[in-house]
Parts: sequence; C-alpha cells; structure tokens
Amino acid sequence: MEVLAKLNLSQLENFVESLGEKKFRAKQLFSWIYSKSVCDFDLMSDIKKDFREKLKENAVILDTKIKKKQVSADGTIKYLIEYSDGNCAETVLMRFDNRSNLSACVSSQVGCYMGCDFCATAKRGFIRNLEPYEIISQILTIQQDTGLKVTNVVFMGQGEPLNNFDNVFSAIEAINTNLNIGIRRITISTCGIADKIKKMCESDFVPTLAISLHCADSDVRKQIMPVENKYSLDELKKSLIYYTDKTGKRVTLEYILIGGLTDTKQMAQKLCDYIKDLKCNINLIPYNPIGVDKYKKPNKKDTMIFKYLLESQGKKVTVRLERGADIDAACGQLAGKS
Ligand code: SAH
Repeated sequence: MEVLAKLNLSQLENFVESLGEKKFRAKQLFSWIYSKSVCDFDLMSDIKKDFREKLKENAVILDTKIKKKQVSADGTIKYLIEYSDGNCAETVLMRFDNRSNLSACVSSQVGCYMGCDFCATAKRGFIRNLEPYEIISQILTIQQDTGLKVTNVVFMGQGEPLNNFDNVFSAIEAINTNLNIGIRRITISTCGIADKIKKMCESDFVPTLAISLHCADSDVRKQIMPVENKYSLDELKKSLIYYTDKTGKRVTLEYILIGGLTDTKQMAQKLCDYIKDLKCNINLIPYNPIGVDKYKKPNKKDTMIFKYLLESQGKKVTVRLERGADIDAACGQLAGKS
C-alpha cells in the first residue's frame, strides 16, 4: 500500500502513472487531500469510478490513526495520533471566537530531551524524531476529522523543533507549498538553540519565531531550563538580533509566570533589561500545573504588575488565554499519555 501523504506532487504523478492513469489525475488527488480535506476516495467526485477502485486497492492517504480525541468546553480539540510503529504524538486544534483562524499546534518529536523542569513532555523523556510526513499527517488528520481548513501552524506541541531541524524544515516547505499556508502563518517555538536559530535564517522558508525564554536571570533559568547551560541568555540574544536583522520580523518571547519564582518585580526588571534593544512582543503564560506541585500558578495581581512593568518599556504584551486546560491541552501539558 502506498501512503499518499508521504508523496510530493511529482512522486504522486509517478504513482498515478504506475497505475496506468494520466498524470493530471495527480493534481486532482492532491487538491482533494490538501485543500478539500477529503480522505475517502469515494467522495472524490471528479475522479472516475475505476480509478477510485484502483486507488482503494493500492493506496491509503494516511497511515496514522486517531487513538484518542478530546474536545474542550472552549472548542479546543486534542488528538492523540498513533504512527505506524505504535508511537503517539499529540496535536491540538485551537479556535478563537473572534477570529477566523484555525491553528494547529503540532508536535515535532515523540518526547523531548531538553529537560525543562516545568514541562510534562520532558518528564516522559525522548523517544524519536518525527518524519516530515508524520508532521503533515497531524494537520491532515485535523482537516479530515473536522472538514475544515487549517490556516495557521505552530510548532508548539511536543518536542524541540530545532533538534529535528531537517525534518521540520522539509515539513514547513510542504505546509507552505502543499497546504498553501503562508510562511508568516507558520511559527516555530524553541527553547533557544542559538546556533540553529542562526542556521534557520539561511533557509528558503524562514518561519515566524517564538522563544521559550521564561526567565531573564541566568541562574534561575538554569534551574528550570537546562538549555541555559549550553546556550546562555547572552548567546541567545545574539541569535535573536541576527534573526530580526536578517528577516525584519519581530520575535515573540514566551514567558511562563511561575508564582514566586519568575513573576516577581525583580524578574520583570531583568526581562526589561534583556529586551531593551530587541524587536519583540511578549506573551506571558500563566504556569499550567502538570501534576507535580513543585511550581505555583501566579496570582492575578502579580501577573498584572508584571505586564504593566513590561508595557511601560513600550513593548506589546499579551497574557495567553488558557486553551483546553480541561483536557490537558494547555501549554506544557502535552504528554502523549495513552
Ligand atoms: N520545545 C519548544 C516547543 C514546545 S512549545 C519550546 O520550548 O518552545 C510548548 C510551550 O509551552 C513552551 O513555551 C513551553 O515552555 C511551554 N510550557 C511547558 N510547560 C508549561 C507549563 N507547565 N505551563 C505553561 N507553559 C508551559
């Protein structure tokens, strides 16, 4: 059985010809798979019956299964997707009431080896990288399950995308060309692998960049994010300036407010100093509990003061809405439990 999600357009043309059909049929198929979100060959109305039969005998679109699906009260949907080797990864579809955007939050690895102390994925260790088509399959799964077209993709699921560089960048190329999602609507989030940030600036498809900064004090950051031992805040900043200079785009700094640890006035001041000469927006994320009670959620007052202190530096600051917390789909809660 050929897995069609693995093929680019010219490979699909070869496959179609190997079934004794004309090449242009591949374009029709491609459009059903990527634009019209249809996975049932029988529903492909402009494809003649005998070719549909041949397809059913020789091909599947995806070789993944939805192992579990949970729908949150706010409309967020979390999928646990099982790959052909039995490994699973999570994908989240987020809808925002006031926008027409449909964002897919995709995983780049099964597990992760960065070891951030507040993250549920890290607690389960690293298993393997995902292949480009396994990343695309997450988006196709959402489209086929809902019948809707995904408009934005964020690499904020499980895994560290810059540790699976080549596969993630091939996936981005395919998301851009096959799924027709603009490069500005594709975002990579990284814990700060500075040399890979520079490397990605050389790619033909440079996505929007978000950084899991979470703390601007090196000692405290080391306690919660081991990556700080390898790529210090100073080195990270150099790579961010390189990105903003090279692309002209802003970076988004994600910052988890952990009660009593990263949400204090002193920490806000450190962050203000760190971002002074950086083209950035700040996204504050209230810490989401992950079942171990080492860290606390911030209270509303400290969150507000923190936000105010940053805004007084002229930065755009948003506090991230908690999406899907009731189904463990909020930031950092993706553990791939099955
Ligand atoms: N490895 C990449 C992609 C993961 S994105 C990265 O680090 O950016 C997932 C986001 O959720 C990251 O910003 C991560 O730091 C954040 N996160 C992890 N655990 C969290 C938690 N318990 N509460 C809130 N955010 C968390």
